[in-house]
Amino acid sequence: MNKGKKLYEGKAKIIYSTNDKYLVIQHFKDDATAFNNLKKSKVEGKGVLNNRISEYLLTSLAQSGIKTHFVKRLNMREQLIRRAEIIPIEFIVRNVASGSLTKRLGVAEGTVLNKPLLEYCLKNDELQDPVVSKEHIFNFEWATKEEIKQIDKMTLRINDILIGLFRGIGIKLIDFKIEYGKSWNKDKGVNEIVLADEISPDTCRLWDSKTEKKLDKDRFRKDLGNIIEGYQEVARRLGILPEIANVKEVNFSKPRSIKFKKK
Ligand code: UDP
Repeated sequence: MNKGKKLYEGKAKIIYSTNDKYLVIQHFKDDATAFNNLKKSKVEGKGVLNNRISEYLLTSLAQSGIKTHFVKRLNMREQLIRRAEIIPIEFIVRNVASGSLTKRLGVAEGTVLNKPLLEYCLKNDELQDPVVSKEHIFNFEWATKEEIKQIDKMTLRINDILIGLFRGIGIKLIDFKIEYGKSWNKDKGVNEIVLADEISPDTCRLWDSKTEKKLDKDRFRKDLGNIIEGYQEVARRLGILPEIANVKEVNFSKPRSIKFKKK
């Protein structure tokens, strides 16, 4: 697979073309941003961890029948993905109140929600990704009723699968953001909705089940200490850290904490 020109550069990832018009390469950067780009930093090793964690989560979801853009991981920072036209909405699922919900509605942080809460935000940095209703989505034709019906169903199923997956490793899935795209299915000759982008500690709130210690990007947002340690902890519990830690490029700040699996 030949890497072609840069098609798009976002805050945490870069997309490159390939010699197959249906496939692109997604490159994970070490850049961390928060509060709409007001806080920025490089977090060494973050891209490598997110690449691997996202691969693991999207592969697990695919095994449960969720269609995703993920094809295969190419190397420590890159994955081959299906080209998709991204729907300009961030789909947010909340199981426990945190972050912007607490600020917007005055709900206490940590309140367990009666049922998963689905929110839609317009993907627009200048407008600070405002919350929008389904009526906005249909009116401005960001997605059709049928697409949103299908996406809502997929999103709640993804939430169920991820809650179980994280519960098994002692982590509470507080909330997360996902994106979807429309991608051409060569075999069927139709466009289909696929889960796109990434799922990682950059896009989820993950709390240790017992201590409620934050293992996600809130460590960066709120200066709660070494961000990479939280991400490493998630990768370690998923059973994928040893493979990452073997690669020289990743210079984690506390190598002593890395445990290798016995062969
Ligand atoms: N999120 C994200 N990208 C965004 C906005 C939110 O990945 O541009 C994730 C965030 O990490 C959290 C969830 O979506 O897991 C809900 O975020 P929230 O609305 O509370 O926004 P925040 O206060 O984190 O910006």
